[in-house]
Amino acid sequence: MSILKVAVPSPLSRTFDYLPPLGQPENALLPGSRLSVPFGRGRKVGILLGVESHSDLPLSRLRRADAILDPEPTLPSDLMHLARWASRYYHHPIGEVMSACLPTALRRLHDTMTGVRPSAQARYYQITEAGHAVNCELLKRAPLQRKLFNTLKASKAGCSGEQLAALGTSWRTAVRALIDRGLVVEHVVSTVAPREVGAQVHGRDSQPVLHDEQHTAAETLKRALGCFSVTLLEGVTGSGKTEVYLRLVQACLEQAQQVLILVPEIGLTPQLIERFRKRFTCRIELLHSGTTDRERLRVWQEAKAGQIQIVIGTRSAVFTPFKSLGSIIVDEEHDLSFKQQDGFRYHARDLAVIRGRERQCPVLLGSATPSLESLANVASGRYRHLSLLQRAGGAQPPQIGLLDVRRRAMHEGLSEGLLELIAEHLQQKGQILLFLNRRGFAPVLMCHDCGWSADCPRCDAHMTLHLKSHRLRCHHCGSERAVPVSCPECALENMVLVGQGTERIEAAIAARFPSARVIRIDRDNTRRKGQLESLLAQATAGEADILIGTQMLAKGHHFPRVTLVGILDVDRGLFSADFRATEHVAQLVVQVSGRAGREGRQGRVVIQTHQPDNPLLQVLVRQGYPAFARDALEERKVAELAPFNHLALLRAEATDSKQPRNYLQAVRAMIQQMAMEDVWALGPAVAPMERIAGRYRWQLLIQSPQRKHLHRLLDELRPALETLPASRKVRWSLDVDPVTLL
Ligand code: ADP
Ligand code: ZN
Ligand code: ZN
Repeated sequence: MSILKVAVPSPLSRTFDYLPPLGQPENALLPGSRLSVPFGRGRKVGILLGVESHSDLPLSRLRRADAILDPEPTLPSDLMHLARWASRYYHHPIGEVMSACLPTALRRLHDTMTGVRPSAQARYYQITEAGHAVNCELLKRAPLQRKLFNTLKASKAGCSGEQLAALGTSWRTAVRALIDRGLVVEHVVSTVAPREVGAQVHGRDSQPVLHDEQHTAAETLKRALGCFSVTLLEGVTGSGKTEVYLRLVQACLEQAQQVLILVPEIGLTPQLIERFRKRFTCRIELLHSGTTDRERLRVWQEAKAGQIQIVIGTRSAVFTPFKSLGSIIVDEEHDLSFKQQDGFRYHARDLAVIRGRERQCPVLLGSATPSLESLANVASGRYRHLSLLQRAGGAQPPQIGLLDVRRRAMHEGLSEGLLELIAEHLQQKGQILLFLNRRGFAPVLMCHDCGWSADCPRCDAHMTLHLKSHRLRCHHCGSERAVPVSCPECALENMVLVGQGTERIEAAIAARFPSARVIRIDRDNTRRKGQLESLLAQATAGEADILIGTQMLAKGHHFPRVTLVGILDVDRGLFSADFRATEHVAQLVVQVSGRAGREGRQGRVVIQTHQPDNPLLQVLVRQGYPAFARDALEERKVAELAPFNHLALLRAEATDSKQPRNYLQAVRAMIQQMAMEDVWALGPAVAPMERIAGRYRWQLLIQSPQRKHLHRLLDELRPALETLPASRKVRWSLDVDPVTLL
């Protein structure tokens, strides 16, 4: 007897057993195939993990799968392996992990996308075994369904969407109803015929002669092709890392191999993409949050068939199938956006490494400010290290200095010293970049008489005043309200604004330098499609004298005219409750600084601070990021934190303030009972921000110096997390290798 082991998306961390669909030959049951299966009262798409001869359930209780949905396995074996690995490592249900690997269009039983013609060509429909068993009398009241049903029944091979479309205009709805009843299955057909990768690499733009460090790096990487290794390419901003990527990609293309490039946020890397497009004539496709489901499906299928040579994408692109993958590049590997922060909380950089191992291809991690994790992997000999210390093309490194603002006159968050420098650089026709990681006008609105402040009713947070929309907005839950004219507490009309956001800096700069052309870039004014690109284009073309922005400005851009960078609010990051905060401050400072002086002229970076003696800032400014990272790693070692200790964070939240704590206490008691060697739990502790969107949040930190030991405990603990009685009263999540403890 064959029992199908199927991964079905569900919050339960187990697989489900089914009987094979009727009328399918046994040898069609290949792992990685999608199946339509009955689940609860409905139907879902599951992935076949394997066929076994045993089930823990009595045969009479097993349900039968409806049909196999694809002629060949949808998930190739390396992705199956990756998903299994990720499910074990992140202790996340296999069904949800496999579902996350699929493009959205393949996660559904039928095509719910509307109004687009070509889809009918890419789909065909067949009657299921259950369909053959029923009488069409059942469909008496649905004439179109009946017509479709009879047509399908008469045709052995099934019908294409186009054929069905001829039967009635609302055929989609009708066929969907049949699918929901398990009578019909839909197959998504790959419209691409498999074809080998062509090695047409014509450099359209002229290639620069590599400088020595680049040459060494590129040669080392080329020699590494063909087997698995991980290399950290640490290169100061402007040192020519991208040029090294281009050479590695070229070497892969010459061997008819494909390349996957992961980037933090596609909107922030138009310049990178542009360089790839200029250099290679091969097919390059993008995958990111703005990609439509249909596009995603197409790229997925074409990459799988070997027809796309280069895929550049964000986090989830790590799950793209490839026919012949030659290497994986992770640009800005330190970036936090590679970590998924809800649901299946994977780290795309770490999965890229697992994938490289499975496919036996090299993985290249690039950054000017590598994560401490990757540096620790270099130190332990697991990763190769290549560095680029010189800026390419003779550009000089910027001159970085701290500006002590204690007791200095401040104008809306701008010190007199900085304002003078701005005036100077404006006069010399330099471009100026002011960085402040906070949008809106002011983060706090307060009554000057009684101290009342405008707080979010649903979060433990102040509401930010936004000038343009003239609203108070909570940046944590999105709540909005009108701006009060008088104090709701004492009724006096004496409201003051505390602190600065980018809007306020913009206003202050406009008042002080009325003739300067200012461009502000933050989430608030780049929501619409194309807005960011057009602002960035204006900035690079020199249509602005002063750029003001949040961290969106810090990543990857190349502003050739910038000669002065001002970092306004570094102090805030120094007082964060998160142990990773200093690492992030340092990365941000270095990344922002890298925007200065890229073209011949030496740039100047000024960091305003009330803490000029802060050892972190001192080391960073005087000795640079590598020295800072060395110290920070030493500190983490002494404090027994990641990467020397392996962490998992169990978060729980509920509208009732007591439940999260009760739940975590119960979990903690279980952990203590297990009495496992080398693993311990800290907490439960209230989250640094206790309430967000009306829910109270607590957390339990589980840690061990041995990764193995941590996972042994989690393996044993995981089933209890969902079965403990207290679990029903909370929303909980387990975060392995959390990037933030907030
Ligand atoms: P990174 O990615 O490290 O910030 P890039 O690869 O963007 O650096 O290089 C910075 C600038 O230097 C770019 O304008 C690039 O075209 C240029 N460049 C890179 N390598 C060379 C080289 N070997 N000779 C001359 N210019 C170079
Ligand atoms: Zn008041
Ligand atoms: Zn809120």
